[in-house]
Amino acid sequence: MNILKEESPKVEFQPTTRKGNTLKDRAQVVVVGGGVVGCSVLYHLTKSGCTDVVLLERKELTAGSTWHAAGGMHTLNGDPNVAALQRYTIKLYKELEELTGVDCGIHLTGELMLADDEDRLDWLKMAHARGRYLGMETEIISTSEAKNLVPFLEEQYFVGALWDPVGGHVDPSGVTNAYAAAARSLGAEIERNTWVKEIIQKSDGTWDLVTDKGTINCENFVNAGGLWAREVGRMCNIELPVQAMEHMYFLTEELPEIESWLDETDGHGRGVIDFGGEIYLRAEGKSLLLGTYEQACVPWQTKATPWDFGAQLLTPDLERLTPSLEIGFSHFPIYAEAGIKQVINGPFTFAPDGNPLIGPIRGQRGHWVACGVMAGLSQGGGGGLAMANWITTGDPGFDVWGMDVSRFGDWTTPSYTLTKVIENYSRRFQISFPNEELPAGRPLHTSPIFGKLTEANAVWGAAYGLEYPLWFQTSGKEPIEEVTFKRSNAFPVVAEEVKNVRENVGMMEITGFAKHEFTGAGARIFLEGLLTNNIPKSGRISLAPMLNEAGKLIGDFTVASLIDEFSGEEKFILFGSGIAEGYHQRWFLEHLTLDSNTQYRPIGNDMTGLAIAGPASRELLSYLVDEDISSENFRFLDIKNMAIEMIPSLVGRISFTGDLGYEIWVSSSLQSKLFDLLIDAGKKFDLGLFGLRALDSMRFDKNFGAWASEYRPIYNPLEAGMDNFVKFDKESFLGKESLNSVLEEGPEKKLCAFVVDAENSDVLGDEPIWYGGEVVGWATSGGYSHWSEESCALGYLPSELANMNEGFEIEVLGILREAKRINEPLFDPDGSRMRN
Ligand SMILES: Cc1cc2nc3c(=O)[nH]c(=O)nc-3n(C[C@H](O)[C@H](O)[C@H](O)COP(=O)(O)OP(=O)(O)OC[C@H]3O[C@@H](n4cnc5c(N)ncnc54)[C@H](O)[C@@H]3O)c2cc1C
Repeated sequence: MNILKEESPKVEFQPTTRKGNTLKDRAQVVVVGGGVVGCSVLYHLTKSGCTDVVLLERKELTAGSTWHAAGGMHTLNGDPNVAALQRYTIKLYKELEELTGVDCGIHLTGELMLADDEDRLDWLKMAHARGRYLGMETEIISTSEAKNLVPFLEEQYFVGALWDPVGGHVDPSGVTNAYAAAARSLGAEIERNTWVKEIIQKSDGTWDLVTDKGTINCENFVNAGGLWAREVGRMCNIELPVQAMEHMYFLTEELPEIESWLDETDGHGRGVIDFGGEIYLRAEGKSLLLGTYEQACVPWQTKATPWDFGAQLLTPDLERLTPSLEIGFSHFPIYAEAGIKQVINGPFTFAPDGNPLIGPIRGQRGHWVACGVMAGLSQGGGGGLAMANWITTGDPGFDVWGMDVSRFGDWTTPSYTLTKVIENYSRRFQISFPNEELPAGRPLHTSPIFGKLTEANAVWGAAYGLEYPLWFQTSGKEPIEEVTFKRSNAFPVVAEEVKNVRENVGMMEITGFAKHEFTGAGARIFLEGLLTNNIPKSGRISLAPMLNEAGKLIGDFTVASLIDEFSGEEKFILFGSGIAEGYHQRWFLEHLTLDSNTQYRPIGNDMTGLAIAGPASRELLSYLVDEDISSENFRFLDIKNMAIEMIPSLVGRISFTGDLGYEIWVSSSLQSKLFDLLIDAGKKFDLGLFGLRALDSMRFDKNFGAWASEYRPIYNPLEAGMDNFVKFDKESFLGKESLNSVLEEGPEKKLCAFVVDAENSDVLGDEPIWYGGEVVGWATSGGYSHWSEESCALGYLPSELANMNEGFEIEVLGILREAKRINEPLFDPDGSRMRN
């Protein structure tokens, strides 16, 4: 996302009242857009007690993509946190109907998800297992059971299915109007036919929303502009990564053949998703509805959405559905002979990864978005709840990492977004394997050694727009990883990479770490107040979690304390997770006050890095530097500027491999030279390249947690086992008060490490952990530790079970695997390799 505007200071907001009949001139929160998402945000704001709220709708409610939606709702999603929100949304509709008396047309028909091959069945089993700890009641069933549920399917095309009793469909207009009615009854105002044409941030930090009916000022506004969210974003000089796609579904003539099925099922049949055919279907009256996510998909309005587009449909083009329909008709022959009564073609928006974009906009206090919601009827409710929590309390209240707008950064130009959205749409019903890297829009950002690493046969992944090596395929073989839920062709090669690190020395590209620089006289004090650990003295590194007010983990950093060569003043570089770069930038900008005397600068990819690790890494580095880097002179967690031959470098003695190791940082113009130098000198020490897969394997040797897996904003650092990095004796740090109560009462759950009897399918993350016949916790990540030759997992257990070692099982791809909780790391438990 491109941010072109500076932040303004925060001021106290004073609500005022409406004059005469014109638009109210001030409100605490203004929601732009009266689709299902905007109305849900409005309702949840009022429900949480924030009633000085106004919704502005250009035309009539639902006049964007909402009115022509097929109304389907599903609980399943690849991200279990998004799945939980979808489940909340579906349960909410009954409550809304009761509250307002508005008919939402709820039909909880249940939904059958059909697998046409074993991989898809594995995916469904995984989704079923993941759903367990969220309380979802899905079932894996046989094809004959599936046929009993939907008699007109052709059993021979399928290998199994998942039955979800909670899915179904609703009336999109009914739901939107119910949200609106409920919000109004709680004090919200809704202004229809009121078009927001301009958005201006005033010098006091509040926002003027200029409409064709006058101007309304507010402290916070929410862009829920749906099909026009991109254009509303542009009013504030940001380019939101959303793009609309055409989407078609059709209705058959009435089909007497389905009458008995309808009679058996309360008149509404059952919903079906056929992943192989890339189609969804359900009954609508006595007809059948069928929709498809076709390969030959068509984006809609790639430059700008016209403001005069109303409640209109697009010209249908059944031709482009032909490939999907051919499969669909063989899987469900009833369609082949049916006449088509109506075809709907309408546009709706997607983000590059298909998940919603919600949350505050970096650097623009009071600007929120709730857009890119491609499944508004499943996700609108949970998204609205998260937004209301976030606006009113500063925290979304649950794990919305997968939907947070900050997961996209400045690389998401319109053309990148378009490419990714087309990829996402056409893969909507395809499996995303856990080790799969989607190719569209890549490579985009590359480090200077991209070509050299490609020559070394790197298999590439991408994170936060930047390419990074996953592993290095054996010379002469295609650098491609087979996608699978089990162990891939990378397995034996990564084993060699790990062995070489543990026995000799390995080198890895680390440019993808996020780097945040803080300078100025107030920087140390600012960071002391923001991070839980002590900020180290110059030349030292410390590991420091960052918390929100609720004491939850919102970051874990390696903090390097340095002296700036130009000013001679202290400066600090926080190295953090690359994928959380935008998330952390937003947090820092929100917390910097104008008087803090602290300057913040995201460094980005201009600072490039290489890490060397393994027992010979010291010898290798010594060979290239003039100074004494013995363990006494360059201790674990020291950091300093050194000349590596001709190359001015910043070298830190730290390694995520858990081994002796160094992270070497240079300006991007020098990375290529540094790489050559290390490769050349490394020949004497059997230096080998390694990638992220090997690093991951080695972190399981050491039980090191990682951001977005073990460390997420739903855990606190005492649960996450980061006690050593929290200094309760510090005068204050953000979140200390909340964490004090956790300390007093003891954490409810604890991060634990396991070795798993996995055969060839390791834990991936989000699998349920069983104990005594019950699901008691969940795995956060897992993988094979090649050095220790164990399949490992990390996961959270209730504190009362966190001292037990035996009796656990982790459900991996539908099979309960014995898991032993281990007390100490498998490799170098006393840390002597790393420290000495
Ligand atoms: C054919 C089709 C079938 C679908 N089927 C399903 C389905 O089965 N299940 C499902 O969950 N989803 C489905 N969807 C997707 C669903 O329609 C969207 O997820 C949902 O409508 C998104 O709602 P929204 O509120 O974000 O956006 P929108 O409905 O587009 O609403 C945005 C609103 O903002 C208003 N607005 C924009 N800019 C301004 C401005 N400057 N000033 C004032 N007002 C403004 C617009 O007029 C509009 O009313 C389908 C979509 C299509 C096209």
